[in-house]
This record gives sequence, structure tokens and C-alpha cells, in this order.
Amino acid sequence: MYHHVKKLMYTVTIGDPDPKFGKMLLEQFGGANGELAAAMQYSIQGFNCEDAARKDLLMDIGTEELSHLEIVGALIRMHLKPMKDGREAAEADPLVSIAGGGGVALFDSMGNAWTADYLKVTGDLAVDLRSNIAAEARAKIVYERLISLTQDQGSKQALQFLMTREITHMRAFTAALDSMEKPQFAVGIIQPTPGLVDQFFNGSTGESQYGETDFKGPWNSGNGMHTVQSEIKDGEGLDVTPYNPKPGTETTSPVDSTPVGEWTNGVGKKQKALHEARKKTQQKMLPSKSDLQIAKPVATERPRTRVFSIRTSPSPVPACSLMLTEE
Ligand code: MN
Ligand code: MN
Repeated sequence: MYHHVKKLMYTVTIGDPDPKFGKMLLEQFGGANGELAAAMQYSIQGFNCEDAARKDLLMDIGTEELSHLEIVGALIRMHLKPMKDGREAAEADPLVSIAGGGGVALFDSMGNAWTADYLKVTGDLAVDLRSNIAAEARAKIVYERLISLTQDQGSKQALQFLMTREITHMRAFTAALDSMEKPQFAVGIIQPTPGLVDQFFNGSTGESQYGETDFKGPWNSGNGMHTVQSEIKDGEGLDVTPYNPKPGTETTSPVDSTPVGEWTNGVGKKQKALHEARKKTQQKMLPSKSDLQIAKPVATERPRTRVFSIRTSPSPVPACSLMLTEE
């Protein structure tokens, strides 16, 4: 059930409207990494989620993203206002001014219509959580760029609030994935082919115009990986020995989403028993614990006493006239 609360999650105030900046802000309204895309992605993943705890997380954050959409919408509306009646302002975007009457609509900053194609919903909880971590990183960097493109303090502060929340979400999704207790590279229910999975294929040959050849790094040597040279360079090539897929061999979590039929593993009783029996031997094949560590966010000190004062803001929007300030 959804219930609308009139007050914005964050009170928006701006100085002089900047229609061109308002148009840029549409990227976070109806764009690929925008707030509607985030709200829909997490909510629909939540509708699919069989695990009550992580469903709650997805619905909480999905709902917060809708609140962000409302904040961005308020900010854009203020910046676009001159497009309602000013010829010069209207020239910033005829789509917004003539077709849209100078208001917000579900388009990105280039006038592309919002589409469900932006959403990443796979039906696999662990995979979806990884998509969400990446989505939050993209949203963060878009906000950062928007912040750098305005001098308006009120706009900068609102964007700082929204940007910060994306990192909070990123931490929550990371912790949720971590809490599923799957090894870092365990995806799905079929283990990758042993040997082949450790081979990094050197797919580039020759020398660049700057004399660069091949680089070595932890991605192709170390971390259990080693480089395999291409046949074109008289190398041995990848190990292409046929290997039969074995469902139920990958390490799963009790809260993994349930694949169908014979592929059932996470909560399918027969496969689960098989999985439990194999788990011990598999553990020996897995990378060491230190290889699997996900960087833990550093906890920041918060003041012990927090005083909140309520003051009215000079917002032109009556519905958002209350602002909570931490002092
Ligand atoms: Mn958001
Ligand atoms: Mn977010």
C-alpha cells in the first residue's frame, strides 16, 4: 500500500531559476540512472522477492527513491518556471516549453522518453543486489556532475542530500548481499568449469603507437588467475575441453531466489540436501576468506547529542515549508 505524505523528504529552495540547468536535472527524473528507474527497479525486485527480510529492504529503498523523484521534480519545476512564459527561456528546450508547458515530464535531459528497458530485474536476488550496487554508483556520479554544473547554493545542497542517500543505499545493498553468505564469485547454481575459470585470455596483440604492449595486473596474474596466450600468437589458447554443466554444484544461500523445475536448488529439498553434502568439499576449492572480503564502509563518528530545530523556509512551495535542521 502506498500513502502520500505532503511534506517533501528534503525541503527544496533555489535562488534564481536556471531553465538550462533544470533541463539537465531531468536526467535524474526520467533518465536511465534517474530516480524513477531506481524506484521501479527496487520495488519490482521487491515484488518478486521470496525472502521477507530483503524484500523489506527493497521496498524501503524503492519507496525512498520515489521520495527522491518528488524532490528532483520540485527542483526541476522551480528551475523550469521561466519556460512557461519567456521566449528566451523556452528556447532551452521546445519539448519542455511547448509540448510540456514548462513542467516536468518523464523524459531525460536529451528528451528521450523514460522506458522500462532501464530496469535490471533478473529474478535472482543476489544478482539483482549486485545490479543495485552498480545503479547507486551511477546515480551518485550523475549527481556529482550536476553539482559541478550549478552555482546555486540551494540546488547544490538538495543534490548533496540526494547524492548522499545513494551511497547509503549502496552500503545497504552491499551489506544485504554480504549477509547472503555466498562466496564473492558464486552466481546461480552451476559451478563454472574448473581450470577454464582461472584463465585470462590475452585478446589483444601488437604494439600501440606509443609502444605499449601487454600490461600485467591483478586481473590477469594473481587472484587465482593466469594469462593464456592466443593461438594467433602461438599460444595454447583457452582450455576448450567439453565439460558437462552440473546443476546444484554452486554455493547458494537459503535466501536465494528459487529457479524452476530440476534447476531448483536454493530451497528445493532434494537439491539442497545434495548441496549440503557437497558443501564441505567445495569449500576447499573456494578462494581464501581474505580474497572474498568486501570492503566494509568505515563507520563515521556522529555527535551524541542531536538537537533539531524547526524553522520555516522561504520555499515558494507551501507544501514544503518545514525544514528540519541538525545543529
Ligand atoms: Mn535516489
Ligand atoms: Mn538510491
